[in-house]
Amino acid sequence: MPLRVPKDADDNAPVINGHDASILPLCAKLAARVNAFLQTEAETPLLKAVQEQTRVALGVISTALDRYRYLDEISLSYNGGKDCLVLLILLLCSLATYKKAPLPKELHSVYIISSHPFKEVDAFVDDSVTTYSLDLARYAMPMKEAFKRYLEEHKKVKAILVGTRRTDPHGQSLTHFDLTDSGWPAFMRVHPVIDWHYAEIWAFIRHFEIPYCPLYDQGYTSLGGTTDTHPNPALKATEGNMKENQSQGFRPAYELVEDRAERLGRDW
Ligand code: FAD
Ligand code: MG
Repeated sequence: MPLRVPKDADDNAPVINGHDASILPLCAKLAARVNAFLQTEAETPLLKAVQEQTRVALGVISTALDRYRYLDEISLSYNGGKDCLVLLILLLCSLATYKKAPLPKELHSVYIISSHPFKEVDAFVDDSVTTYSLDLARYAMPMKEAFKRYLEEHKKVKAILVGTRRTDPHGQSLTHFDLTDSGWPAFMRVHPVIDWHYAEIWAFIRHFEIPYCPLYDQGYTSLGGTTDTHPNPALKATEGNMKENQSQGFRPAYELVEDRAERLGRDW
């Protein structure tokens, strides 16, 4: 089933962003929902933390939008995972008030296809392209090579938004803005969700009912390729916590709480 942009509670019509129109209506709709969330008193401490994280991330994105003269200079690194999905939603929200130029029809983005991709991930990325109007460049090659090629083919791009978080293998010393390391193609990496906790990412996605890759409902918590990614053993269902209709034997990714346990289903 195609992905749908989440609906407003008072609006039964899904947002459909025609490819011949700018992304502004989509951005405005998402911004209205996120702003409403930020203005209400949070129902739980977790949602209160999500509000704070959302404000910080929107601030970082806004700095990036100020810092770069044209929107063509900014892209999004998107692999269909939960973290860059949150980032994509926040980027679209931020663009609702973009004043420097009319918004384009599609958003620059880049996806490096794993050497052993999950069909569910590829299908989710395809759906995202339609739902969120992405101008997605895809490369099936090692990451460094892919970004070199991407920059050659998109000469204006100077900064790429990335959904890396602090607990990812290379996330420990990153800040909101980091140039790529030596040996990597040169561009600015922007990390608006770097300090979000695992549980906050899921609380955001579930609060806004954002459709996500179905592998997460099968106990996968971090998505790599088929050869190095398994359902997270910390989510193995036991007789006591197995839910009705649960055929896979694993609980959904959003039931995990601990940041440190996120990558227990990854071989590296
Ligand atoms: P995940 O935790 O799965 O993803 C973290 C985020 O990275 C995602 O939210 C997404 O935004 C992005 N991402 C991950 N995989 C893909 C993909 N296949 N296609 C598109 N986006 C993806 N390493 C260095 O040592 N030095 C660098 O300077 C450096 N620059 C990088 C710049 C970019 C834009 C990216 C995406 C990666 C870079 N890396 C760099 C590699 C990085 O440190 C990780 O090794 C890599 O992102 C995969 O990590 P992960 O599996 O933990 O990703
Ligand atoms: Mg991640």
